[in-house]
Amino acid sequence: MSARLLIVGPQGSGKGTQGVRVGEAWGIPVVSTGDVFRANVAEGTELGLQVKSIIDAGSLVPDELTSAVVRDRLAQADAAEGFLLDGYPRNVAQVMHLDEFLEGRDEQLDAVIALVVPREESLSRLTARAAEQGRADDTEEAIATRLEIYERETAPILDVYRTRGIVDEIDGVGALDDITARIFAALEARGLRPAQ
Ligand code: AMP
Repeated sequence: MSARLLIVGPQGSGKGTQGVRVGEAWGIPVVSTGDVFRANVAEGTELGLQVKSIIDAGSLVPDELTSAVVRDRLAQADAAEGFLLDGYPRNVAQVMHLDEFLEGRDEQLDAVIALVVPREESLSRLTARAAEQGRADDTEEAIATRLEIYERETAPILDVYRTRGIVDEIDGVGALDDITARIFAALEARGLRPAQ
């Protein structure tokens, strides 16, 4: 069935991994702005050249540019019946951009999955990932910047969505499969059932 979802959590909360699992089970595309930007950087597109230094520093890409990228992606046929957003919106201005876009399509988000992970835990997971994957923005300085931006700019978007009654807080600590089960249970409690 169709589901329009958002997964939010600090960097290192496992939202990428869990988002893919939900996307597969619900049969909806995962739209990760971070992945889109990284792919463009890797391919050396004009967008990639524009955003590379911003991403490497752990700062945010300008809202207008990011929202335009998301609008383009959500306009593709596979997102007509649903999607899972990962990493967007990341501040209140982007929430407003997304609201405007969805209203124009007579759509709205059905649920916001908020992965709750203590700061020390996300920090140690990010440091481990840095050693494994060598992502350009996994330097100590960029990690600190990203966590700080999360707390200052991204966490407040949850207050906006809480007033709409669509936030499910999920404990993001524990075994991956257990966390997935918690997310699925929360979505099903909203009447959002996975595809067959
Ligand atoms: P992520 O993989 O979600 O951690 O994103 C990696 C980087 O891409 C971020 O640190 C930002 O530089 C950029 N980025 C991703 N999503 C957004 C967004 N919604 N707004 C602005 N910048 C973003």
